[in-house]
Amino acid sequence: MTATPGKLVVLSGPSGVGKTTILRVLLNQLPQLIPSVSATTRPPRSGEKDGVDYHFLSPEEFQRRQAAGDFLECCQVYGRQHWYGTLADEVTPRIDAGTWVVLEIDVEGTLLVLKRYPLAVTIFVEPSHPDQLLQRLQGRGTESPEAMARRLEVAHRELLLADRYSHRVINNSVAAAVSEIKQILIDVGLSTTAGAQSLGLQS
Ligand code: 5GP
Repeated sequence: MTATPGKLVVLSGPSGVGKTTILRVLLNQLPQLIPSVSATTRPPRSGEKDGVDYHFLSPEEFQRRQAAGDFLECCQVYGRQHWYGTLADEVTPRIDAGTWVVLEIDVEGTLLVLKRYPLAVTIFVEPSHPDQLLQRLQGRGTESPEAMARRLEVAHRELLLADRYSHRVINNSVAAAVSEIKQILIDVGLSTTAGAQSLGLQS
């Protein structure tokens, strides 16, 4: 018996908008949504685990896999030396088996994904106020002034491409953004039964 294929969900938004937090909460609430683990050539940050946060690859290994056609999409994010990419193996078999898979990738990657999966549900998370990005990046305290300026410049470019997404969500609060995204996914056919059951078991 062939399963009804799952859907591909893409979540993007400028650096500092809070999309990683939103995604973490969303995944807790919707265990039937499976995150794809991207590959990257950037070194792991403290606490990050290979195969969990990213597949951390050497530039040579990344290039080899790119040449082998292993990526659904890949690009150099932020114009840095570092490459990021979605491995087809993380996505295609799961979608074929009826699973919903979510990618957290940048705008350029999203446009590439849409060529392969034109029906992907694309969600762009926007800041509630332009200053929100700067405040969050400053609050993180992990970026040099140059890196912050570059992230803000990239954020500006990404905001200009937000209208290429099927949905836009303003991050007024994490809870509100999560509930809006949940509703979008339910409206496009995500079944809540599995999630409700597993949440029920936990309570
Ligand atoms: P970070 O280095 O902070 O983990 O991620 C930097 C950026 O890379 C984020 O904006 C994230 O959306 C993007 N990114 C992560 N994985 C991928 C991927 O597989 N493909 C693309 N195109 N972008 C990615």
